[in-house]
Amino acid sequence: MRPIQMVDTSTQYQKIKREIDAAVIAVMESSQFIGGKVVNEFSTNLAKYNGSKHVIPCANGTDALQIAMMALGLKAGDEVITPSFTYIATVEVAALLGIKPIFVEVDQHSFCIDPSLIEAAITPKTKAIIPVHLYGHAVDMEQIMAIANKHGLFVIEDNAQGIGNEVIFSDGSIKKTGSIGHIGCTSFYPSKNLGAFGDGGAIFTEDDQLANQLRMIASHGQSKRYYHDVIGCNSRLDAIQAAILDIKLSHLDEYIAARRKAADYYDAAFANHPKIKTPFRAANNNHVFHQYTLTLIDVDRDALNEFLAEQKVPSMIYYPVPAHKQKMFDAFGGSAYQLPVTDWLTERVISLPIHTELDQEQQDFIISKVLEFIK
Ligand SMILES: *Cc1c(COP(=O)(O)O)cnc(C)c1O
Repeated sequence: MRPIQMVDTSTQYQKIKREIDAAVIAVMESSQFIGGKVVNEFSTNLAKYNGSKHVIPCANGTDALQIAMMALGLKAGDEVITPSFTYIATVEVAALLGIKPIFVEVDQHSFCIDPSLIEAAITPKTKAIIPVHLYGHAVDMEQIMAIANKHGLFVIEDNAQGIGNEVIFSDGSIKKTGSIGHIGCTSFYPSKNLGAFGDGGAIFTEDDQLANQLRMIASHGQSKRYYHDVIGCNSRLDAIQAAILDIKLSHLDEYIAARRKAADYYDAAFANHPKIKTPFRAANNNHVFHQYTLTLIDVDRDALNEFLAEQKVPSMIYYPVPAHKQKMFDAFGGSAYQLPVTDWLTERVISLPIHTELDQEQQDFIISKVLEFIK
């Protein structure tokens, strides 16, 4: 059996090595490292894939979120509604801009923000909702958009883990995550479903004016070269990463299918186990399984994590401390929050290896070790 890894980007690379190597060498020979044809082509292809009018490439997913908030004119003293059960970047950039993150509880099944609890958290200072498509499961965007429209709020989708997910609306229309809110943000961190060989990110929008603003902010607030209209930052996707991403984008649907197949296999193995709850899949979304995350009932989760490590089966706790309990949010009154579902999940979730190169022998081994520990 091949050693089991949490993510196997190395085997994935071997399968498309010739294409990738040629594309990287072509960029090096062109000397067009920043911007230019390769970055533009990738942006166009990504926009087409996602059904989005504009794609603004940037340096990473964290920057994408920051630039989105800046482009919408959010400023110090404003509030944004976001889950606490998420990767820290989502809320960190809000805090960095002096914006107060207001944490709303997640749904215990989907792990995503619970739309029915959002309205109670809206105040006159609320400017935006930032739903996170956690682990690749889509937030109920139909409800989020209805609430946002009713209260005149912006929606910034954190689609770092959800790229490729398709949401089905009640009128039958289908939209990719990241193309539904006013702005969508994603990350090309190597382990993400569409991963670069380094850092990268992108911002999606349908709005022409917003697209201009986003582009300007990502490039030192420049309207034209050396004319700086607004305060911006420096956030670029380089051409080598764009060349690699363009190739991987053409495989993304097949990568998602491989993840879903692995998830189905785990689901079948753990089905009806009284102590193991397999990931929920809402009917109106197409889970892309960035993570395969179990919820354990009456199991010593941390001991299982250690046991698996001893058996050379990697597993991860995403995330051991929710945002509202991070020290960095003490100043925002984080510790005053009561988020029992978030806390409950934080103590019970465990993510098993899932990636495009996982084979059945490896999965059988992982499953047998999990079931050996959880009798
Ligand atoms: C990875 C991730 C980010 C940040 O992306 P980077 O490219 O690492 O900056 C933001 N939000 C979520 C939910 C993520 O998983």
